[in-house]
Amino acid sequence: MYYDENYKQNDNMKEKLILGIETSCDDTSIALIQGNVEDFNQLPKILAFESFSQEILLRKWGGVVPEIAARNHMEKIPPLLESVMNHAQKKYAEIDLISVTTTPGLLGPLLTGLTTAKTLSLIHHTPIAPINHLMAHLEAIHLDSIVPYPYLGLLVSGGHSMFLKVEGPNQFEILGNTIDDAAGEAFDKGGKLLGLGYPAGKIIDDLAKTGDPKKISFPVSLLDKNEAHMSFSGLKSALRLFIEQGKNQSEKMEDICASYQHAIIEAFMKKLVVAKNIFTQKTKLSNFPIVVGGGVACNSYLRSQLSHMDQNILFVAPRFCTDNGAMVANLGLRSYASRIHFPECLNLDAKNLLVSKEQKLVDMKNKKAKGKTS
Ligand code: ADP
Ligand code: MG
Repeated sequence: MYYDENYKQNDNMKEKLILGIETSCDDTSIALIQGNVEDFNQLPKILAFESFSQEILLRKWGGVVPEIAARNHMEKIPPLLESVMNHAQKKYAEIDLISVTTTPGLLGPLLTGLTTAKTLSLIHHTPIAPINHLMAHLEAIHLDSIVPYPYLGLLVSGGHSMFLKVEGPNQFEILGNTIDDAAGEAFDKGGKLLGLGYPAGKIIDDLAKTGDPKKISFPVSLLDKNEAHMSFSGLKSALRLFIEQGKNQSEKMEDICASYQHAIIEAFMKKLVVAKNIFTQKTKLSNFPIVVGGGVACNSYLRSQLSHMDQNILFVAPRFCTDNGAMVANLGLRSYASRIHFPECLNLDAKNLLVSKEQKLVDMKNKKAKGKTS
């Protein structure tokens, strides 16, 4: 829970009160922020921010079960909402905008957040900002820092790994994507194979701190390609084979974790060089900010390795890295002009073909086929 003691009454018309609701996966998170919708050179104030992570509840299933996650969201949203409003000492009628994740995510979990937003919107005549939570992960950098556009974004979350050219709050172009697993999945599935529990990202990060990252050589895929696309499923298979062949018996868990983690981070380091070149070709800029966000951006090895690579790298603060309501409220604040007045139609887009890896594969196949015929 976070509460800004210095909060003052909202007396500036450009200052808006934004409620953020995030329920795309397994975190129920709600925040109330206040910020200037025209001047982004001022950092928004977080008045209250509360989250409930379902990690402990989902641990026995070894991952996210969408229906169970949705049921937990339904239980947790009302008390979290009440608590946030109480801490900020605000009434629902005072909220200027309800910002809610609508894409991408799990259908049931997304539905719980959107239904809450629509209900509040209808009762209190409050507009809604539908939020792409991938963009929200990167734009969360603006909760702590003033960063100019365009910037190169590296999004590393549980379900996504991509490089993006970000030119505005909702203006982005994908420069590179994973063609199979995301880095977060590589951590979580790798941890499952090693019997480390769920989610495994932080557990592997912690164990790796006393391990040798060069002890075991795990593969890094797609390095020969001059594209910023990534692949992590081969790494996971290599770990499975390593365990099936019993090679893990003679190695320390700390060394296995450090080496496995090294392979994931190595992919980002190599592909960042390619993504920077693509970004430069497209923007003609040689000096630009690089923003890293998403749950995997909490990883200490990723942070130290990438920081050494480029002085323009900025990391979203760890408390805003995993799915959270503050990042959703923040993107709503920045896209206030395109708010929707309910009951206009406002749908979910759980799959979001624009950012899905299935679509990435289709694009790559089409490109290959086109190359053959031309
Ligand atoms: P999503 O938006 O896909 O739900 P999040 O942004 O909430 O993903 O991030 C969750 C992911 O972050 C999980 O896969 C988790 O293992 C990973 N993660 C969290 N902390 C760390 C860490 N310190 N190192 C590596 N991965 C981490
Ligand atoms: Mg999550």
